[in-house]
Amino acid sequence: MRATLMYGAADVRVQDLPDPAVQEPTDAVVSVLRAVVCGSDLWPYGSMPPAEQGRPMGHEFLGIVEDLGSEVSGLKAGDLVVASFLWQDNTCNFCRKGLQTSCRHGGRYGFGGVGGGQAEAIRVPQAQGTLVKLPVAEDAALLPSLLTVSDVLATGHHCAVKAGIGPGTSVTVIGDGAVGLSAVLAARRLGAEQIVLIGSHKARTDLGQEFGATEVVSERGTGAAERVRELTGGDGTGTVLDCVGTTEVLQTAFGAVGDGGVISRAGVPQYSEGPIGMDMLMRNITLTGGVTPARAYMDELLPDILDGTIEPGRVFDRTVDLEEVPDGYRAMASRESLKVLIRP
Ligand SMILES: [Zn+2]
Repeated sequence: MRATLMYGAADVRVQDLPDPAVQEPTDAVVSVLRAVVCGSDLWPYGSMPPAEQGRPMGHEFLGIVEDLGSEVSGLKAGDLVVASFLWQDNTCNFCRKGLQTSCRHGGRYGFGGVGGGQAEAIRVPQAQGTLVKLPVAEDAALLPSLLTVSDVLATGHHCAVKAGIGPGTSVTVIGDGAVGLSAVLAARRLGAEQIVLIGSHKARTDLGQEFGATEVVSERGTGAAERVRELTGGDGTGTVLDCVGTTEVLQTAFGAVGDGGVISRAGVPQYSEGPIGMDMLMRNITLTGGVTPARAYMDELLPDILDGTIEPGRVFDRTVDLEEVPDGYRAMASRESLKVLIRP
């Protein structure tokens, strides 16, 4: 089969690899119909030291079940399934409380002998806890939106849930990337009333407004926080969703959030220190967020996609085939493309 491997910064290659096969009784082999280049794939794309052995890439995919281990029940060959971006048993004590990212038997694609989703096929460990059957045909126009439950929509949703967003909430979403726009969609879906989107890329903030943003702020840094305060009678919004992950954005978040408010982080922090001292204490700010347990949210999010209530797949603005994946990385890294869909 053909599969995507990363050998170092800006060095992504599509190569022949052996076809995956069931190795454990809990495995499935899935032929990939759609996959994604994730914003998080861009970190190694920007900084990975050169390696002799390529790293298999891709952790968001949907496809057709080809083969199943003897202990997998509830699935059969030919089923169309979507995977969460981490695999898990979905039965251990962490999974049962909705924290599948901490699964005792879980792991990451692309590591420990497990391949990646940017390929023609993949072996999925813990298939029963990881793969969710989709009640649509394999040529359905809904596939891009359905695929977003694997990671990007689930990430925006989790960020909004951790912030406690519900009917009437005011929120500032920082970041006009795919996660930020998904967070806008999720906040609206959960009932947020005022949604201020901070972003400077017009085509993206336009989509953010279609997803539910009530105001757009194109300033950066302290100017952005000041603008949010102007829009909220000086108080700031009750919640802020940080969908970027830099120190500057965390400072903007503290400037935009109201006293007693919540800052929730989805962006992977590129820092290890922040403004969490006396000011945060005196203002009663809560700092929360974390990696999304995508599997926990699929049963809630999939019905709204299937009935057309939300269309999160609109974040994809470019589709490539497998041989074009290296160009997809380049396009996302240069911000020429918001999010790249792969059609092997
Ligand atoms: Zn588990």
